[in-house]
Order: sequence, then structure tokens, then C-alpha cells
Amino acid sequence: MKVLLIRPRPDKETIGLQHVMICEPLELEYLVSNIPENLKSDVDIKIYDFILETKSFKDMLKEENPDFVAFTAYITHVETVKNLAKEVKSFNPNIFTAVGGVHAEVVGDDFLDSNIDFIYRKNGIDGFNSTLDGILKILDKNQIKEAISLIEKKPFEYNYNHPDRQAVERYRKNYYYMFHNPCSLIKTSYGCPYDCSFCFCKEITGGKYFTRDIEDVVDEISKIKEKEIYIVDDDFLFGEDRLRKFIALLKEKKIEKNYLVYGRADFVAENRELLAELKQVGLRAVIVGIESIRKEDLKTYNKKTTVDINESCIQILRELDIELYATMILPMDFTKKDFRDLAKWLTAMKVTFVNLQPLTPIPGTDIFKDYEKHLLVPRQEYTMFDMAHVILKPSHMSVRQFYIEILKGYYKVVMRPKNSIRLLKKYGLKENIKMLKGSQKVSLQYLKKIIRG
Ligand code: SF4
Repeated sequence: MKVLLIRPRPDKETIGLQHVMICEPLELEYLVSNIPENLKSDVDIKIYDFILETKSFKDMLKEENPDFVAFTAYITHVETVKNLAKEVKSFNPNIFTAVGGVHAEVVGDDFLDSNIDFIYRKNGIDGFNSTLDGILKILDKNQIKEAISLIEKKPFEYNYNHPDRQAVERYRKNYYYMFHNPCSLIKTSYGCPYDCSFCFCKEITGGKYFTRDIEDVVDEISKIKEKEIYIVDDDFLFGEDRLRKFIALLKEKKIEKNYLVYGRADFVAENRELLAELKQVGLRAVIVGIESIRKEDLKTYNKKTTVDINESCIQILRELDIELYATMILPMDFTKKDFRDLAKWLTAMKVTFVNLQPLTPIPGTDIFKDYEKHLLVPRQEYTMFDMAHVILKPSHMSVRQFYIEILKGYYKVVMRPKNSIRLLKKYGLKENIKMLKGSQKVSLQYLKKIIRG
């Protein structure tokens, strides 16, 4: 049986990070490595990453003539996946189609479509394997769906082989995250122990938090060939004992890699020494949801941090020379003065990298219901839910003006001359040109929004 796993290219309407990063499709690599032994000899499986693939989808179908095509998707891909599934069924209606990924796990109904046979809403790897089993046993579609729904009822348990990174060997050299180039991904925990109101991540595991055995994590890292490792946990900096064991194992096994992780400001602020030790074993950058400089916002978001904690985190990372990638939420009641204050604060704190995200109520989050009736775009305009489009009405300015303020904010903070000189010295000309090209593409997308209004 020929099986194709597809990572679709984001729609051209989607603004954002795809211009400054392309990460490997780890979830698809997990599918490849976890096919049960008894099915392996009957399954010929291949990943197509259409962010990098030069072949067209149509040519791929003709060339591969698959029996089963499965897609991975974020919310911004919903329409794209439906269109591609339609293309598959028009090519040959007997080909089975499926979709999985984080959006399918939280709001699976968004993928209900006559051209999509199976939606993996929970325990996706096991659901996928049960589909393979069902197709090979020539079960009908409803029987396979029943088997998948039984798997969805089981509690999540991490008991999987390491992802098969070789499955994307032909794309690997092109995977990078900003200055982490080339870069490999690893996941060491699932969910998050916190409960921020706007956050989609915690919905994927229904608010539960699971960690992988850290020895197994380090074993996986030891087999990765890239030096740069992006740990894609929602919050890697959690559990001091686990992190100490991580440090000890890296030292014991003499593993020399660089790490980019997500972490909370309060953890950094309270664990300076631990951060210094992590730096010694390769911690190079932390993505921190600073979110706001207004204390009432932090309260509304249930962030459980304060402006002081955020400032202390930024200072510690700067002193330890660990790069900070800050993310800020821009609420709709922002005035021009709020934008000016934010840029002033970020430059005073010497923040180099910032992601300015207009408040986006993602379907499936706590805040979605509160904002649903205020959406400026229909709920089905999935490509707009990219955390960069303005999809709620600003209270004190037009949407166009809001985009102008975002763009001005980026130029004041990220493109200020001091920053550029520092980055040139640290990362060299070639990497900076690549980043500049990427950020110009994002700016162009914003400019188009401003011109169109
Ligand atoms: S925003 Fe971060 S800390 Fe808050 S729930 Fe989401 S992942 Fe956890």
C-alpha cells in the first residue's frame, strides 16, 4: 500500500513566521517511525513537505499513485487541506484521505468535508495506524472510523519510537529557525501546567501535562545530526529536577548542541543559576511570552506574571547572553500612545527580537466564545487566524492604522541600527541577509494590508 504524508504550504494570505523559519514536520516523522511491525512490510510510506517541494501536488499524485493520503494541518491550513483532499478524490475517488495535527485535535469538526475520510481528534499516531490496518484488511470506511473513535477514547500515553528524521532527508538542510540554521526539532513534553486564557497549546491535551523520560530525550538528542535543536515543548523550562537531570546527562554523554526552547518569564526570573547551567550545556535562546507591559492585561490573560517578573527575566537572559525571542499580545483597546509606550519599553529593555501579535481568539480557546461575536472576519476565514492579522475591531483606531502601528513597532524595535550592528557581529552577513529578506516579505504583507485597508 502506498501512503503519502503531506505537509501543505501555508496559504499566501497567511502572514508570518514562515518567512523566517521552516521547521521539520516532526509529527509526520513520528507516523513513519511508529508503523507497527506487523504492517511495515505492506506499507510504502513517504513524506512530502510542500513548503520545500518543487514538484506540484498534481504531478506527485500522478507519479506516486497512492492508496492513502494523510495531511498535517494548523488552523490556517483548513481550506488548503480541503482543496487538496478534493484534488486527491478527483484524481482517484478510491484513495483514502485523512487529516491530523493540532487543529484537528481541538476543533476536528472544522475538517468535516466529503473529501476527507478520517479526522484524527486524539491519539493521532494510533488512529493513523488503525487506518493502515483497516485499509489493509479491506474494511469499509465506517468500520475504520469506528476503530479510530475507540482509540480516541483511550487516555494519552507516550509510548512511541523516536521520529524518523531520515524520512525528510531530502529536505533537511533547508530546515531552520531564524539564526538557528540548520535546525532539528524535538518534543519532550505535551501540554502545559499553566492556564493562560488565550492559549491554544493547553487545549490540545485538555489541560493535562505529560513529560517524556528525560533519559530517552537525551538518547534521542544524541542521535540527531544537526547542532541546533529546537525543543518545541509548550514550556520546556518547568521542573527543576528534570532540568538538572537533563544538564547532568548532556554532560555525562558529552553532547554538544545548541538549544532554542520555550520558557516562562517567572521561571527564568526565579532560576538564574539553573539558566546559567543550561547556558553552559548549550541553551542559546528562549522564546518567552512576555505578553504585555500593562498589569491589567497580564491579569486578564491569567498569565500569573507581573511587569517586574518580565523585566527581571529579560535582564537575566541579557546578562547570561541567552537570546530572547519575546512575544507580545496587542489588545484591541491599544491607543497610539500604548504602541509608543510598548516600543519605548522594548528598546529600553534592549529587546532585539519581538513578535507583535494582535489579540487573536483561536477557536477552541477559553476566550473564543467571549470574542466570537466581535470577529471582523467569518469564523471560516481560517487563513486569517495566523496571530498576525487583525481580526477584531480596534477600539481607538481603524484596522489600517492598527497595521501601521504594528509595522512601526517592528521597525522601531527590531530594525533599530544598534540591533542590526549587534546581529551582524554575532551572526555574520549571510545569515543577516537571509533574515532581512524574510522580514521584508512580512513587511510587504503588512503593507498590502495597509494599502487594501
Ligand atoms: S501561554 Fe505558555 S504558559 Fe500559558 S498556557 Fe500557553 S503554553 Fe502554557
